[in-house]
Amino acid sequence: MRRLPGVLIVEDEPAIAELISVNLRHSGFRPVWAMDSITAQAELEAVLPDVILLDWMLPGESGLTLAKRWRAHPRTKTVPIIMLTARGDEVDRVAGLDAGADDYIAKPFSTKELLARIRAVLRRRAPEQDAGLVTVGDLSLDASTYRVTFQGQLLKLGPTEFKLLHYLMTHAERVHSRSQLLDKVWGDHVFIEERTVDVHVKRLREALGDGGQMIDTVRGAGYRLSAQTVPAKQA
Ligand code: CA
Repeated sequence: MRRLPGVLIVEDEPAIAELISVNLRHSGFRPVWAMDSITAQAELEAVLPDVILLDWMLPGESGLTLAKRWRAHPRTKTVPIIMLTARGDEVDRVAGLDAGADDYIAKPFSTKELLARIRAVLRRRAPEQDAGLVTVGDLSLDASTYRVTFQGQLLKLGPTEFKLLHYLMTHAERVHSRSQLLDKVWGDHVFIEERTVDVHVKRLREALGDGGQMIDTVRGAGYRLSAQTVPAKQA
């Protein structure tokens, strides 16, 4: 029997938790609800979920504190965390990503959007995605042959742009802060200014031509490669 992916929902508002649970269950997930940090911690110690949906504003310890702790703990550090937040402002988004959240979604959100985010973080966990052909919208990247095409046209990319694009494509639809990109693309121990990321994103966009529009700048938060951003047709 196929194992259903487990989702731990850490949310103190029962109505929201119930709505998410029902939708996840209908979509082939196995949701578990924890209404506070103590219950969430106990659930994590019992069964490790595939994804954690973590509300920012919780009674007692905040979602941010929990994200930091779980990210630092060996047992939980690889479990993707999606922060749920009613706060929309950019400082908070950055704080959430810096605390180790993989993504965040602002309330109120659509079920469709939430499911898309969950599937995106789950794809990221699948190691086979790291090799071979990756396709996002009209963009294709073949890691084994180093070929990148947009709408079937072969593109020429520098090695850093290739690596950056590979990362963005295998982690599409999510916002990545500059420090996260430095960490993932350039490596943990490299000391480079965050501005370097902007330079390479600019070069990457240029190299992609019309496909460059698929890379969104999310003000105050970072960058995202999205298949939803349909490049405008040339007039
Ligand atoms: Ca709350």
